[in-house]
Amino acid sequence: MSGLVMPALDEKVMARRDEIIAALRAIVPNNGLGEGVVDSTNAMRVFESDALTAYRQLPLVVVLPETVEQVSQVLRYCYENSIRVVPRGAGTSLSGGSLPLGDAVLLVMSRFNRILQVDYPNRVAVVQPGVTNLGITKAVEHEGFYYAPDPSSQIACSIGGNVAENSGGVHCLKYGLTANNVLGLEVVLISGEVLRIGGKHLDSEAYDMLGLMTGSEGLLGVVTEVTVRILQKPEVARAVLIGFPSSEQAGVCVAEIIGAGIIPGGMEMMDRPAIKAAEDFVKVGYPLDVEALLIVELDGPPVEVDYLIEMVEAIAQRNGSTTCQLSRSEEERNAFWAGRKAAFPAVGRISPDYLCMDGTIPRKALPEVLAGMREMSVRHGLRVANVFHAGDGNLHPLILYDANIPGELQAAEEFGADILRLCVKVGGVLTGEHGVGVEKRDLMPEMFNEVDLDHQMRVKCAFDEKHLLNPGKVFPQLRRCAELGRMHVHRGALAFPDLPRF
Ligand SMILES: Cc1cc2nc3c(=O)[nH]c(=O)nc-3n(C[C@H](O)[C@H](O)[C@H](O)COP(=O)(O)OP(=O)(O)OC[C@H]3O[C@@H](n4cnc5c(N)ncnc54)[C@H](O)[C@@H]3O)c2cc1C
Repeated sequence: MSGLVMPALDEKVMARRDEIIAALRAIVPNNGLGEGVVDSTNAMRVFESDALTAYRQLPLVVVLPETVEQVSQVLRYCYENSIRVVPRGAGTSLSGGSLPLGDAVLLVMSRFNRILQVDYPNRVAVVQPGVTNLGITKAVEHEGFYYAPDPSSQIACSIGGNVAENSGGVHCLKYGLTANNVLGLEVVLISGEVLRIGGKHLDSEAYDMLGLMTGSEGLLGVVTEVTVRILQKPEVARAVLIGFPSSEQAGVCVAEIIGAGIIPGGMEMMDRPAIKAAEDFVKVGYPLDVEALLIVELDGPPVEVDYLIEMVEAIAQRNGSTTCQLSRSEEERNAFWAGRKAAFPAVGRISPDYLCMDGTIPRKALPEVLAGMREMSVRHGLRVANVFHAGDGNLHPLILYDANIPGELQAAEEFGADILRLCVKVGGVLTGEHGVGVEKRDLMPEMFNEVDLDHQMRVKCAFDEKHLLNPGKVFPQLRRCAELGRMHVHRGALAFPDLPRF
């Protein structure tokens, strides 16, 4: 792993591998679905990376539980034996959130794949965490409903992973991120205790534990059930494809659309390299003679949609748009989106490797950040293609590199870090929806000071004082709870005796 420092292997755990595997097999035995515990190097290979493929690591062992009781027993066993655990859904994290650790159990939740209940009167669905994001919509669309947050990976990523990453998608501008669409959770803590948070109701008393768990990147507990809001499909949705001679003009158009009080169902932007890659891949008729392309979707009652489309077209013209194409059918609207949704794999065809960054900026700063990226591209000697959730100011620069050329991965990582630093400098944040994981872990001090980080760590310690859940992710220093000034002496045994005391 290029320069990535992960927690040192726990040699005591490594030495007990056979005993640990036997104990885990007793909890999760083989059944009709296959092995409950996977421990051969070859079989574990498929789990050695997530979608941040620059990094890979075999886990200690892979466990595939099927019941909440099994998850609880596995976690309790790991807690009592001080064994690290990395929760995993579908492994599509772009920030290395589900990257295994050599001395950790990889707890794969893919067998939790059932829709438990659909409650139309209350407009909620109760699902297991391994159900794919799109699977929820598929289960309710025959009744005219859908689940709104739509990451581009929705065909593969799990709702448990979406909760852990607070995932978003093109429709989150109007309908909110995962955090705004999850009403209840069942979570198993590292102690094995089962916690139920929220439910079908709209508000919870007491602290906002739902908010705490959503986006916690597998560091606070393992999600075993999710209650999500389902929405009725809008009467009409139409998309407009608008081309501009410069990204700056497109950026100003985005700010003016929002400034006019219009909240589109989705508003996405692609720059020239991304447009060309997407068009070559899916051939949906994107204009190739523009520098920036906006896809703006308006949804709602037909009269409202028609009115808003006129307003959007007028704003676009005022800002120098050179092409404007309105979808005339549902097929055409889906085709407009197909290119955008396939933009990542499309870029994968024009470069051996790419790093997908994820930062968020105030919309007004878009021209400044785009200009900054162009300068960095020259300085780092690497190409960049831009795809972003323009309405939210959530950027996804794709840095193109070739891992086989010595030094290129490192240059790409430095380029990415410079982009995120710029996002913070203009008043933005390090991540929009992909999480911190290992990718942005060491950049956290760019955004948070010691006090901020200490208090975030105190939350972590309240749930997992032994630091067993997904260590090495999110927090920049490998610092543990004992170092926060809290000293818990249990039956005369000092925790972390290896740490120096002051
Ligand atoms: C081509 C592509 C496009 C993408 N587009 C988007 C996009 O538009 N928007 C977006 O937000 N993301 C996007 N992603 C990123 C990714 O799909 C999301 O982060 C997704 O939510 C990860 O889900 P997963 O099931 O694959 O989780 P994993 O990758 O398996 O895990 C991600 C994190 O969640 C934790 N986790 C997983 N399951 C659980 C659980 N049950 N309990 C506790 N913690 C758990 C893991 O420990 C890890 O920290 C994209 C990825 C790819 C490859």
